[in-house]
Amino acid sequence: MSLRTVSRKFAAAAIIAALTCLTAAAQTSPEAFLGHKVGADRKLADYGRIRAYFEKLDAESPKLQLLTIGESTLGKPMIMAVITSEANMGRLDRFREITRRLKDPRTLSPEEAAKLAGEGKAILLITCSLHASEIAASQMSMEFAYDLVSGKTPFDANKVLEDVIVLLVPTSNPDGHQMECEWYAKNLGTKYEGGNMPWIYHPYAGHDNNRDWFMFNLSESKAITKVLYHEWLPQIHMDEHQMGSDDARLFVPPFMNPPVPNVQPLVWRGVNLCGVNMAYDLQKNGFRGVVHGRSFTGWWIGACDDTGWLHNTLSLLSEAASVNLATPIYVEPTEISKEYAEKRMEFPDPWPGGWWRLRDIVDYELTLSMSLVRTASLYKEDLLLNFYRMNKDSIEAVDKGQPYAFVIPAAQNDLPTALKMIGILMYGGVEVRRAAADFVAGGRLYPAGSFVVLMAQPYKPYAWALLEKQKYPDLRQFPGGPPIPPYDNAGWTLPLQMGVTCDEVETPFEVRLEKLDKAPSAVVPDGQGLGAYVALSSKANAAYTAAFALLKDKAEVFRTKAAVKVKGADLPAGSFVVKGTPEVKKALPGLLAKLGLTAVDLEDVADISMAAIKNPRIGLYRSWWSNMDEGWTRYVFDDLGVPYVTLRNADFKAPKKGKLDLKAKYDVIVFPSENIDIIKTGKIDPASPWARWFTPNPPEYSGGIEKEGIEALKTFVEEGGILVTLNEACGLAFKDFEVPAMNALEKLDRTKFFCPTSILKLKVDPAAPIGYGLPEETAAVFSDSVAMATWIPTSTEWDRRVVASFAEEGVLLSGWLLGEDAIARKAAVVDTRHKKGHIILIGVAAQMRAQSHGTYKFLLNALLYPEDI
Ligand SMILES: [Zn+2]
Repeated sequence: MSLRTVSRKFAAAAIIAALTCLTAAAQTSPEAFLGHKVGADRKLADYGRIRAYFEKLDAESPKLQLLTIGESTLGKPMIMAVITSEANMGRLDRFREITRRLKDPRTLSPEEAAKLAGEGKAILLITCSLHASEIAASQMSMEFAYDLVSGKTPFDANKVLEDVIVLLVPTSNPDGHQMECEWYAKNLGTKYEGGNMPWIYHPYAGHDNNRDWFMFNLSESKAITKVLYHEWLPQIHMDEHQMGSDDARLFVPPFMNPPVPNVQPLVWRGVNLCGVNMAYDLQKNGFRGVVHGRSFTGWWIGACDDTGWLHNTLSLLSEAASVNLATPIYVEPTEISKEYAEKRMEFPDPWPGGWWRLRDIVDYELTLSMSLVRTASLYKEDLLLNFYRMNKDSIEAVDKGQPYAFVIPAAQNDLPTALKMIGILMYGGVEVRRAAADFVAGGRLYPAGSFVVLMAQPYKPYAWALLEKQKYPDLRQFPGGPPIPPYDNAGWTLPLQMGVTCDEVETPFEVRLEKLDKAPSAVVPDGQGLGAYVALSSKANAAYTAAFALLKDKAEVFRTKAAVKVKGADLPAGSFVVKGTPEVKKALPGLLAKLGLTAVDLEDVADISMAAIKNPRIGLYRSWWSNMDEGWTRYVFDDLGVPYVTLRNADFKAPKKGKLDLKAKYDVIVFPSENIDIIKTGKIDPASPWARWFTPNPPEYSGGIEKEGIEALKTFVEEGGILVTLNEACGLAFKDFEVPAMNALEKLDRTKFFCPTSILKLKVDPAAPIGYGLPEETAAVFSDSVAMATWIPTSTEWDRRVVASFAEEGVLLSGWLLGEDAIARKAAVVDTRHKKGHIILIGVAAQMRAQSHGTYKFLLNALLYPEDI
């Protein structure tokens, strides 16, 4: 139901509610509906049951209204319950308008803001079970909603729901939730009960669905972001998760160091206030083992609960100790680590060990969720007014080190990608403006049409943190000792990841700016794509999409062997040239318009040295472990229109009759980043620190590509196949093939080299087929990556070409790097040739989380390798 129909429905509902309140119709409890207590051992409500229960409450209670806020990746409706008093329910549009007005102090005086804060209602958003195996909150949500609408609360619900509008998303990941429920049911009563699924719990992202919250690749992130920063603007947002089983029972904020520096201090104070109230309410009700200030830092932007900090929202995270999905566990007291066995100021009541059940998690989460409702009610006016104050400060106060603006010049290496980035910024609530005339900023001349992100805007902290280069503080275990790793990325700078030029400008400048009201699209000239030949620059990722689409339709496509200037246009090496057949002329203009591409029409190509490419048969390996990088690679392929088939372990075994011939079926085989023991054997080295997190898989999901697969891959390469190893999977090439390259970082401990996910500077050879279309200097994401030493091959059967190497100095662009000397000048991407084929080693995270668009081309070039180079 759309928001508009909701409010119309409630104009009528208010009258009906007034008539029916005397009869106080009873609401069905979740226990009565499900036939078991919420969180009972080994009982789970799947997504269909949860939805059905909320629909029932929607029909039974005037205090709950169920909305559809979007669709999951696999097309399930995403639901959100609005819970508030009957009187408020009839005026939701007004309350949403109030928060929208409080967001923009440029059009609201402090006096008006105070008045609106008096009239408005605090909005609290609770999102559950984004990580689908952290399933308790999704179950809890039903009881929480029921308790609120039926008044079974530790406070006067009638009074509190007059002040507060609760928004409740029972699961932020319906597809994953359904997968987990089905997997659990299938293995119930077997030795695999409660074990991990052999695939990721989201069609593309798995656990990384909590790394997408500034990029919005996933439809689930899009739906909730719309609620957060466009439609409802909650002042408090809580995202409920689970963590490991043995230590604290629950984490609630305050968060631990370090903070993202751009966040307003009042956000942290408000987060701490909510956190302390939760811990207080839990303690007074006898809940033991609650910790704050450990494990979860204030330095991160990609998680659901974290981007809120940068939008002046009190954004919180809870992490409860896990059970085996719905199966209880027993924790021996001696299994609890010392730091969680001893009393500390941030952990005053250690949990002694014992049985731990799904219902325990539900109880902790119910209590903390109720506590938040109470806090929202106690501080209702304050929360609304402080939201206004923080937005006002964002605009008026100039923070230390704050730039005046960021400028995204109109001229870009890859314009469609730059425009895409602007759309992504706007989806996150950033105001972007376009210059109506040429202007000078920071001593540089920018043409009209360049984009400007002024820092004086309500969501300044977000825009700033996303566009600037991060400098992660040098935190050590002791002075001069090993580093304390960040929670996730140390750096994430979006323009660097996407290969977009974006300049930070410190001093104010004058120019007439127009605020964009929708994401910009490229202006594509009419009548292009009709020449005898049509050339597309290899600089744009979208040109590769066009090439794949044309190849699929059997067009003749070539790649230029060197940079060439034609009709005034500079075409870098590897640019695409398409023969203008009648079919091409029919399809190409529409394709170019859709992709925002500008083409060069050519009469003849006699002077251009070109090599043909064919529609490649691509295989993408997928193990029986939940490999997120495989999911993201698949996402990138789907997003860019790359054709592929998924290869399973069975595809690396000879059929019952006949022999295994990979070259007969595939031209390119891609191994996403993954531990090579898992690729080869399906088992992790028992000595690995991660080994204890791996539960055994049922036999049909066991094994790896095995020796037979490795041998088949060797033959595949020898016969002309292209094997691509991404990031960690490069280990496969180092260990099992005789590539003239090795990982120079392999034996270095953290005191010698340390680079948690950060962005580093690469020197690229754009004349090399794998470097086509890239600028000579680019930024690449380093994340558990490799830096290679190569050598002169000892056999003529091998050759190597270093496509990209880490810069000589100034390697770190954003994040944290210790031991620059260990990585400077080492190879990052190497094209090795073996007999008739190639092994392409892409040692950086070239397509990580579908964020690093700036380095997609390393992978895309490997897929569209010209035949006779
Ligand atoms: Zn989680």
